[in-house]
Amino acid sequence: MPCTNGHNNFDDVPTCRICGVNTFVAPTVVLQAPPENNGMAIASMVLGIVWVYGIGSILALVFGYQAKREIARSGQRGSGMATAGIVLGWVGIAGLILAISLWFTFIHSVPFPTCPSNCVHVNGS
Ligand SMILES: [Zn+2]
Repeated sequence: MPCTNGHNNFDDVPTCRICGVNTFVAPTVVLQAPPENNGMAIASMVLGIVWVYGIGSILALVFGYQAKREIARSGQRGSGMATAGIVLGWVGIAGLILAISLWFTFIHSVPFPTCPSNCVHVNGS
């Protein structure tokens, strides 16, 4: 197995035959199962897609940035999905802001400027 300085040794030697250190790269690193996808990264991407009037987008950003931190610490997979969730989150929020501004533009374009947005005209008045 390799020592911490990168020299190859037989697996049963107590110290490196080249540099003499007794620290070796743990074989469990090689034998570990492939890292799993980070759950928050999956949640982030799904929430970014579903949008739900911007609520999903905000949660996608929260989960996405959290997933990035967890992946950086744990080495899990899912970094691409977390990035997708963050991008979709920002796009969703931008879309929401655009929709709101278009709505207000529409409200201010009606010929009754004092009329609240939810008023109902009865009998054509
Ligand atoms: Zn060595």
